[in-house]
Amino acid sequence: MKEWLKELQNLVRNIESIEKFFPLTDEEKESFKKVTSIYPFLSTPYYLSLAVKSCAIKRMIFPNIMEISEAIQSKGEEDPLSEERDKKTLHLTHRYPDRVLVVTTNFCPTLCRFCMRKRNWKKKTFFISDTEIENALNYIRKNENIRDVLISGGDPLFLPIERLKKLLFGLKAIDHVEVVRVGTRAPVTLPHRLLDDDLLEVLEKAEKVWVNTHFNHPDEITELSKEAVKNLLKAGIPVNNQTVLLKGINDSADILEKLFRNLQKIKVRPYYLFHCDPVKGVMHFSTSITKGIKILEKLFKRISPFAIPYYAVDGPGGKGKVQILPDRYKKEGNFYIFRSFNGETFKMSDM
Ligand SMILES: *Cc1c(COP(=O)(O)O)cnc(C)c1O
Ligand code: SF4
Repeated sequence: MKEWLKELQNLVRNIESIEKFFPLTDEEKESFKKVTSIYPFLSTPYYLSLAVKSCAIKRMIFPNIMEISEAIQSKGEEDPLSEERDKKTLHLTHRYPDRVLVVTTNFCPTLCRFCMRKRNWKKKTFFISDTEIENALNYIRKNENIRDVLISGGDPLFLPIERLKKLLFGLKAIDHVEVVRVGTRAPVTLPHRLLDDDLLEVLEKAEKVWVNTHFNHPDEITELSKEAVKNLLKAGIPVNNQTVLLKGINDSADILEKLFRNLQKIKVRPYYLFHCDPVKGVMHFSTSITKGIKILEKLFKRISPFAIPYYAVDGPGGKGKVQILPDRYKKEGNFYIFRSFNGETFKMSDM
């Protein structure tokens, strides 16, 4: 049997199976039971074995009683970005002029406690149907200004391969679609999926595919994840990364510097550092925007912008993303005053 299928067959769901990896205190078991009655636990054996060695990874997947506390629940919203409201077909959200989002499934082999689509955990497992693929494709065919299609989830790489193929090849055939971005955490939580030639061949032949993955911590970069990324690159698929800024996990310039540098070493380009969205059951991971900007400023002093993602907030109610850069210039009359990487200022006339 293929390695990735074995991982799926042995997904870890309950206390008994977790205890084969690490011991749990009575208190942890108690909160596990309470939290998972609302937000389930799921992990691949692979990712759980990383959690044994890394507290940060453990905190990303192990249920925390805060998730269901009144204080945390009342602060967030189920769907702060109004993805549901802006839907044009059952699975397609159209917000920006040139790009759309298609949420193809709610299945992920590992559930991250900070997930911004935690609302979908409560639904029965779904994979986009053939009819709904056709509905999404039709919408895109009719709207010629759509040039960029985001395939997200859940994790689209765990769609039945025939359906993934239908969607990607359908997009390949639409002339005005120039870019297809597949958002997946497989390189992080189940890299074995990308050792399988069947999938790699589909992604390669679909031609327009880029992969956007989601590493949050340097401990997630392993030999196996390196190999997964390498296979994507060999298939001609550029790999970018979207990190979420998470309190107690990666909210420090040192950790993020290490993460972004190590990503670059494996040829993954850091694209976004997202401020944690105000999602119900997730707010205990939230840091302040001020802290995020301070971290960003430190990074710009230390490393090349080539290794630094955009820090971005996503506006409530579907207002959209805003990319934040350190404040580096202001205009005075006909002059711009610039602040250089090491804090010196200089002046240049407008033309
Ligand atoms: C994030 C997002 C996109 C893609 O935005 P980029 O800034 O281009 O990465 C597209 N549509 C929706 C609805 C989104 O939330
Ligand atoms: S991989 Fe992404 S969609 Fe899946 S649980 Fe984690 S954050 Fe949510």
